[in-house]
Amino acid sequence: MEYINLNDGNKMPMLGFGVFQVPDFKQARQAVTDAIDVGYRLFDTAAAYQNEAAVGESINKSGIDRSEFFVTSKLWLDHFTYEKAKAGIEDSLRKLNMDYMDLYLLHQPYGDVYGAWRALEEAQKSGKIKSIGVSNFYPDQVKNLELMSSVKPAVNQIEVSPWFQQNDDVNFMQKEDIAVEAWAPFAEGKHDIFTNETLAKIGEKYGKSNGQVILRWLLQREIIVIPKTVHKARMQENFDVFDFKLSQDDMETISKLDRHESQFFDHHDPVAIESIFGSSLRALR
Ligand code: NAP
Repeated sequence: MEYINLNDGNKMPMLGFGVFQVPDFKQARQAVTDAIDVGYRLFDTAAAYQNEAAVGESINKSGIDRSEFFVTSKLWLDHFTYEKAKAGIEDSLRKLNMDYMDLYLLHQPYGDVYGAWRALEEAQKSGKIKSIGVSNFYPDQVKNLELMSSVKPAVNQIEVSPWFQQNDDVNFMQKEDIAVEAWAPFAEGKHDIFTNETLAKIGEKYGKSNGQVILRWLLQREIIVIPKTVHKARMQENFDVFDFKLSQDDMETISKLDRHESQFFDHHDPVAIESIFGSSLRALR
């Protein structure tokens, strides 16, 4: 495993396992148990994924010391005030059945992020969270949060895949010493990413699949990856990316695949903000 040194002195694995869209308790528990067996130690859940309890149970019953794991969860918008964030942190810890989380993120850049961030800072001070960070924040929002707070985010988890490479945002975060973590590294399979010919040709040279080429390309950009799958063979495939290195030419070929747009939705788009986040935010009034 490769690790990245976070700006708060903690160390984070560069490759982990995401559990978005696995709300069924038994399926999530099985997926995490299989992933632990394959060798994953970084797990990425969220209050909104409704599977913190399943993730916690698999880890707690694994027989492997808690200190070997790196557990990330995220606060949802309906808890984005100072008081509610404190309760949200307790909820996550209770569902995970853990004394601390390794990383806790503000899931989205809306609502009272400053009040919520203050609660995260306090939880970090008291040892309930080792590292605190954000997700889906644009550079200007990160800069504003940095200027308003005493603790800088350690991580920003954002969408990065060959279809949406986000070079400017990635460069900004890395210059600020904020680790970039890619969500949807496979763009959830959109535009036939697993059979794309350009990626397949590169993969042939190394005896690797499209998925493995994508993960390697991200790792070589110093970006943490958290691919999701419920299939054990794919977990193994996605984990097997540390025995080859893409050449500079291959890195450049992949850089040309950029479609320069989110494969899901634009976080600046007021229509998307209203339809996806509106009800959670209105509940805070
Ligand atoms: P993803 O990892 O890009 O893609 C997952 C999809 O790819 C699933 O349909 C999976 O299918 C398939 N897959 C995985 N490995 C494969 C392989 N080797 N060959 C073929 N198909 C494969 O998408 P994601 O789950 O959206 O993103 C990853 C993680 O990022 C999430 O689980 C979550 O932890 C995090 N995330 C965070 C945010 C945020 O706002 N912060 C948003 C989205 C995601 P099967 O499961 O059927 O194998």
